[in-house]
Amino acid sequence: MSSKSPIVVPVFISNLGCPHRCVFCDQSQFSEPIPPEDVPALVRNFIGFSRDVDFRKKLIAFYGGTFTGLEEPLLSSYLNVASSLVRQGIVDGLKASTRPDMVTPDILDLLVDAGFVELELGIQSMDDKVLAMSARGHSAADSLKACELVKKSGLSLGVQIMPGLPGEDRSSFVSTVDIIASIEPDAARIYPTVVMRGTALERMLLRGKYRPLDLEEAILRSLYAYSMFTANGTRVLRMGLPQSDKLDIVAGPYHPAFGFLVKSRAYRIMVEEMAGIYGEDIEVHVNPSDLPDLLGYRRSNMDYYKFTYKLDALVPRGNLVLDSTCLSIDDIIGRIL
Ligand code: SF4
Repeated sequence: MSSKSPIVVPVFISNLGCPHRCVFCDQSQFSEPIPPEDVPALVRNFIGFSRDVDFRKKLIAFYGGTFTGLEEPLLSSYLNVASSLVRQGIVDGLKASTRPDMVTPDILDLLVDAGFVELELGIQSMDDKVLAMSARGHSAADSLKACELVKKSGLSLGVQIMPGLPGEDRSSFVSTVDIIASIEPDAARIYPTVVMRGTALERMLLRGKYRPLDLEEAILRSLYAYSMFTANGTRVLRMGLPQSDKLDIVAGPYHPAFGFLVKSRAYRIMVEEMAGIYGEDIEVHVNPSDLPDLLGYRRSNMDYYKFTYKLDALVPRGNLVLDSTCLSIDDIIGRIL
């Protein structure tokens, strides 16, 4: 199989399996769950419309709820239909997202037997005060234990974090990131907290009990997490919520190109670092594929600093070169927050 991105068939199970009400969760965005008997047709249809099918891995992803919290017989029904698709060779594996307090050795055995290859945990924060203020209903210790169990099971470990939850400050966030980076998950998603209409978080906002991050702070915290995770070998799959008609955001640091803003901020800081060494009016060398990140959103990095650039395919991706100085994102971690 080539290194092309996998075809991921999303199967939304709505908020089935979740007995909680996190303050930020917009329950109204959940559509009707896909029943198990509809999964095979949905998967075949999705793959049928995908490109380069023969050269890409194919995965089914159960999203939207707490997969490992599903009650019997519904859990078995999903596992049976999905594992049958794996056995038939229609897909190569299965994945799901779930809560850290709903991961046990028994359930992991079931997932592995059914053909799971990955489990993604909604960790959100490693600060118990933040978790309590967000009504998550689990502790940081639950997350540590779940990460350990998933790693031991042989499944690939994915994590999600949410900068800007109630009660979080910079030091709480840095500690969350440092703990998670040290666990070395395989993949991570970073979703800065936004306030959805009708949620408990909106009521907290209206009562003055919650203040969302501004876009600038969300970019900086996310860049810190992005840098720490990538430095520890964790692939960052997504930063910021994907665009959707269902998003009804009343406040918070939402931007449709959030991930790009974060990556291009890394280049702005690298240019700043170069200017600190070589003075103003520098000419930096960059890999052509990294030029958009260097220029920034609407060329905002060019407005911020006076610099010129030269495209150089020999510069490694993610680096900036000037004379004998080569900077990468690892070199600026200490300057972000
Ligand atoms: S655990 Fe997930 S589905 Fe359940 S309330 Fe929280 S965010 Fe919503």
